[in-house]
Amino acid sequence: MMGDSSVYRHNYAPEELIERLHGRVGINTLHARGIDYLRSSLARAYRENRNLRLALELCVRCGACLTVCPAYISTGDINNSPLGRLTLAQAILSGEMGADVVERAYTYYWQCLTCRRCSWACPMGIDVGDVSRVVRSILYEMGLAPNYVSGVVDNLESVGNFLGLPPDVLKIIINNVVNEVRVEKGIEVRVKIDEPAYALLLPSACADYTVSINTFKGYVALLSKLGIDFTISTRAPDITNYGLFLHERHMKLIAERVIDEARRLEVKLVIAGECGHGWRVFKNYIIPRLREYGIEGTHILYLTADAIRRGLIKVDKSLNGDATYVYMDPCHYVRGGDLIHEPRFILANVVRNYAYINEEPGLAICCGGTSGMLAKEMEDLSIKYARLWYERAVIKNADYIVVPCAACKLQMDRVLPRLNKIYGKNVAFMGLMDLVYRALIT
Ligand code: SF4
Ligand code: SF4
Repeated sequence: MMGDSSVYRHNYAPEELIERLHGRVGINTLHARGIDYLRSSLARAYRENRNLRLALELCVRCGACLTVCPAYISTGDINNSPLGRLTLAQAILSGEMGADVVERAYTYYWQCLTCRRCSWACPMGIDVGDVSRVVRSILYEMGLAPNYVSGVVDNLESVGNFLGLPPDVLKIIINNVVNEVRVEKGIEVRVKIDEPAYALLLPSACADYTVSINTFKGYVALLSKLGIDFTISTRAPDITNYGLFLHERHMKLIAERVIDEARRLEVKLVIAGECGHGWRVFKNYIIPRLREYGIEGTHILYLTADAIRRGLIKVDKSLNGDATYVYMDPCHYVRGGDLIHEPRFILANVVRNYAYINEEPGLAICCGGTSGMLAKEMEDLSIKYARLWYERAVIKNADYIVVPCAACKLQMDRVLPRLNKIYGKNVAFMGLMDLVYRALIT
């Protein structure tokens, strides 16, 4: 299979935006645009980063990763594959590079979903997603980064949320959610805003405040039924962390904003909402940092599963009707955050008819929208990636795809209409907490 995906490339962020971002995290290499910087920085990373060294030394070129990488399966372009990305990194290190190497690196490392499916199939456990992240960081230091990702990082660092929604808009949305839950379910929600409480709820601004408002209703209804005193911060209202895709310094800066708010609001617990990559950062970076201050962190789906198991809430499957709900594991949950069984347990308890897109969760297929692929100019490539899971959902007779991840929901929102048209279907999507909300008996 031969293919060429070189035409799909992120638009570059303007220099003033990169300059602003660099300034926040103490990077001053904006004009180091040459091949030499790419090579010397990768050589330094090779010496200091054991995972990168092992990836480049242990690959035996067996090709097992090619059989699972959604980017390669969808495009047939060997450059857009785990093996291609490793080969390119080796070429940069060895100096066997053409004049277009910087452009090639930008194109192909940003076509990677960082979904880590390759690492699951590789006999050596090589995680090419992490190799992509290392090279992207170097390119960013050189001033080369996607406009879309850079803009989201800027919003998260300056306003505190993905979309840059101002506090008064956030308050209106939260109050509307509270009112609708009262009318629809008769539950009196007592949510504090920017006030101290026992727990801080961390929804995902890009979906829960917009395309997936019923997920938000699920959070607040559950916490109210459990009698948990909780607050939402308008300064840090978002679990999203696009620093993960751009540069570790930005990942930490965005995460620290959440930690600062948790401390300022004197909470004892921070509750993550439905977001795959956000949970990956939350579990692996934020929770250990919170514990330094005696604060715990958890996911709303752990709380929900526990509440069902212990009979703390009552749910009725019939309230979700006879539709077929097909669960899609967010890739960052299964290969970055160990959140696998609870969502499936919840689904089995809140609907009558369900199936899974991935019979083997470890090999969960990425939605094709993570890692910056939601950029408008990447839509055509991302729809190629999306066909892999869509076709499986159709085979399972899905009426709804259930996906507890904000980026996946944005991806569904844009690609499902196009895919439904191509395949003549009418598949819809929703979050998992939407189903919990509907099934909740009050
Ligand atoms: S599966 Fe692993 S060892 Fe085999 S080609 Fe891919 S990265 Fe290399
Ligand atoms: S992380 Fe995902 S998209 Fe990137 S090379 Fe591996 S399998 Fe392919």
